[in-house]
Amino acid sequence: MRILVLNSGSSSIKYKLFQMVGREVLASGLVERIGEETSTLTHQAVNAQGEITETHREGRVADHREGMRQIVEALSASSTGEDGGGLAGIGHRVVHGGEDFTEPTRIDEKVLQVIRQNIPLAPLHNPANLIGIEVALEVAPDLPQVAVFDTAFHQSIPPRAYHYAIPHELYARHRVRRYGFHGTSHEYVAGQAAAFLNRPLASLNLITLHLGNGASVAAVRQGRCVDTSMGMTPLEGLIMGTRCGDIDPALHFYLLREAGLTPDELDAVLNKESGFKGICGTNDMREVLEKADAGDDRARLAIDMYCYRVKKYIGAYTAALGSVDAIVFTAGIGERAAPIRDACCQGLSGLGIALDTEKNHGGSPPPFEIQTANSEVKILVIATDEELQIAEQTFELIRRMSQ
Ligand code: ADP
Repeated sequence: MRILVLNSGSSSIKYKLFQMVGREVLASGLVERIGEETSTLTHQAVNAQGEITETHREGRVADHREGMRQIVEALSASSTGEDGGGLAGIGHRVVHGGEDFTEPTRIDEKVLQVIRQNIPLAPLHNPANLIGIEVALEVAPDLPQVAVFDTAFHQSIPPRAYHYAIPHELYARHRVRRYGFHGTSHEYVAGQAAAFLNRPLASLNLITLHLGNGASVAAVRQGRCVDTSMGMTPLEGLIMGTRCGDIDPALHFYLLREAGLTPDELDAVLNKESGFKGICGTNDMREVLEKADAGDDRARLAIDMYCYRVKKYIGAYTAALGSVDAIVFTAGIGERAAPIRDACCQGLSGLGIALDTEKNHGGSPPPFEIQTANSEVKILVIATDEELQIAEQTFELIRRMSQ
């Protein structure tokens, strides 16, 4: 049985086709720059000999509907036959489920309506996700389609952690609260950590660190999220490629008054011009590390600030959880930047956290562990796979529905 995973953004559609029997990727690809003259479709597929072939198509893709049509065409052209069954369903990544969705949900008219109602909470993402769903429903009206929400895993966070200390009415009327994002990734790596440690997830307290372009931390008690660093929007928490993370909220008023910025300009500064980019001029951690190695003071400062912020969250979430079994590093930086993992764990022996530098720089592919023999807390490096998690959850829901 196959599951197609779709991640529809404002000007792109990413997709991955899984064969669920062996969790094998049969095809994947990306339509980019939808609506522009320079649109491209890149499609990779495994052929009958088991080799990966890539096709690349250039030329205007007018809209998401045309993008989906090209994806369907590319998938049927590269189909390797009915190896173990046809398409069982489609899983869609949806960024914001608000308070309405706590788990993957079969899409129907009511679900579409609630996703629409959540547009004010994610004005850039939810409309793009919706277009992808609507087009997929047109193309394949009889297939079960499932929405998997970035926010769902964090819906178990208790009120003391999701409320902001502002007038309650702003929550009641405007839904202002912490939602958290990257939930699919945090949930996936928590499960993978339990499998790696060969322990039931329900017996573990974990701190999961998703360190990619965007970055967030989650405190996971016995498989359920109890706190996370991103908030009402993905701007809160850790320092990121171009986002500032935690700052004094009064800074906004100061900058509006003193720097003469408009609210939209300030929004762009904090979301797109801050983080590593704002501190040292580049948003890519590989370049930040290179610059720091070459003696660039601002790049060193960016790394220092980044790791210090991560350490403060590890401390805070250790307190939130009471005790921690494992810290999990994942996503681009977490999986591949050994010097960052090193710096994030330095000086934490008081919390029972001790990193083995040699193991950390060992260069093995994830999953692997990097704590010293006497560290009370395990430190794991686990590769995230949000598409596989969406495929698994879609598959599981379809299986349960058909029972
Ligand atoms: P996204 O959030 O876009 O999915 P990723 O999880 O791919 O992002 O993470 C991107 C980040 O990972 C970038 O800052 C990139 O520089 C960093 N990264 C990727 N590979 C390495 C590496 N080998 N060493 C250090 N940083 C890396």
